[in-house]
Amino acid sequence: MAPIAKLFDFIVIGGGSGGLACARRAASYGAKVAVVEGSGRLGGTCVNVGCVPKKVMFNGGSIVEAIEDAKHYGISVPSHTLDWGFLKKARDEYVKRLNGIYERNVVKENVEYVDGVASFVSSTEVKVNGTVLTAKHILIATGGHPIIPAVEGAEHGIDSDRFFELETQPKKVAVVGSGYIGIELAGIFRTLGSDVTVFTRTEHILRHHDSIIGETMMAEMERLGIQFARNTGAQGIRRREGAEQPLELSWTTKGQEGVARASFDCVLWAVGRAPNTKGLNLAALGGIEMGKTGHIAADEYQNTNIPGVYTLGDVYGKSELTPVAIAAGRRLADRLFGGAQFAESKLDYVNIPTVIFGHPTAGTVGLTEEEARRAYGDEKIRVYQTRFTNMYNALTPYKPPTAMKLVVAGAEEKVVGLHIIGRGCDEILQGFGVAIKMGATKRDFDNCVAIHPTSAEEIVTLR
Ligand SMILES: Cc1cc2nc3c(=O)[nH]c(=O)nc-3n(C[C@H](O)[C@H](O)[C@H](O)COP(=O)(O)OP(=O)(O)OC[C@H]3O[C@@H](n4cnc5c(N)ncnc54)[C@H](O)[C@@H]3O)c2cc1C
Repeated sequence: MAPIAKLFDFIVIGGGSGGLACARRAASYGAKVAVVEGSGRLGGTCVNVGCVPKKVMFNGGSIVEAIEDAKHYGISVPSHTLDWGFLKKARDEYVKRLNGIYERNVVKENVEYVDGVASFVSSTEVKVNGTVLTAKHILIATGGHPIIPAVEGAEHGIDSDRFFELETQPKKVAVVGSGYIGIELAGIFRTLGSDVTVFTRTEHILRHHDSIIGETMMAEMERLGIQFARNTGAQGIRRREGAEQPLELSWTTKGQEGVARASFDCVLWAVGRAPNTKGLNLAALGGIEMGKTGHIAADEYQNTNIPGVYTLGDVYGKSELTPVAIAAGRRLADRLFGGAQFAESKLDYVNIPTVIFGHPTAGTVGLTEEEARRAYGDEKIRVYQTRFTNMYNALTPYKPPTAMKLVVAGAEEKVVGLHIIGRGCDEILQGFGVAIKMGATKRDFDNCVAIHPTSAEEIVTLR
């Protein structure tokens, strides 16, 4: 029997952050839109196994920290216990509610939700569950997945997706990888009470961020009791049935002979993410261009080299963040369906603010000091920085640092980077992101009257 054909103006493959935003915006202009989602639930990585459930767990860890601080304010909290199962159930229910809201929104906004995995038949056709859907415009917004390293016994470890499936709290955890996902999940495990070791390939963590963030975060995580195995390369996992900690992780350390081993009850791989391109039958497009990292290549308007086929979000691989995928999606829909006024609509990927929900939190926008020196030359760059204790910790015996670095360029001292770490930095950064996007100079920062007593005020009083 010939497959049934269904005609749309726009087919979006992937019902995650970017795909849904693009589909809904396109439908708002009256386009006939289908969004194809293969996982059985809308929302993608962010809602199901990323930002949202992670932030819930981060909040849990922050509550534990506050309870521990309470006694220094004369507030006695006799004892507290964590019911991991309760937290997981409540979190999953919240995520489920969000899935439902997404489904209702697409229906309300006349986007057809197609439940199934899409693969290309041609540049204007995709096949889902035996049905061929046809459209002049097709968006690939299929996101990415965690990488599991090719070492022996790797399958005994979990990745960030499976972190959210843990029904009980592991007592002793190895986190392999020190990018933002590894650091955030290590912080969650530790603040909720697990014994945590982070394995990092270099001396540093968060190496894509300014050094002020990585160094301060590492010192503070050590104070919280997280151990770091530096310059290490994981060799494999051996499962020892019946052992108290059944997973034996082995690793080598740069400059040292032999293989070291230790036992854990959970090993979390946080060694990077790869784009979801398998299963799309990209071969049917007759030569879509891919980047070296396997991401789908596109120009600044999210056009691939195949006319009528677009890509954005994690599968495109530039600033892999939810609001980036959403913003790129909305701009693409504006350009394709919004009329002449949006003919040039595209996302500017410069000065995108982002936060690390570690303990403490950190925020960063623009160039690191190192990048700025490379881009402008040493003589054009000036750095203002400060380190202090947040007043919150005035009464606590431990004094977690807040550290801030402002990177400015040229005679006019244009702000080209801001890197902040410490209590509240996650919430502080957004407003400064606006100023920096508008081209603010150090003088503009100085001209803004400080809000006292806050830690944000330090950013406008740097000398
Ligand atoms: C642990 C973790 C924490 C994170 N925290 C943050 C954070 O705090 N802030 C932030 O901004 N970002 C965060 N991110 C990143 C963020 O989740 C992603 O950047 C964002 O979800 C990317 O959106 P997307 O639309 O490109 O892809 P996704 O949201 O991944 O959506 C892609 C969708 O496509 C579907 N799909 C794939 N192939 C097919 C196919 N062939 N047919 C049909 N459907 C298909 C997938 O099932 C998926 O639902 C986090 C990520 C992780 C893993």
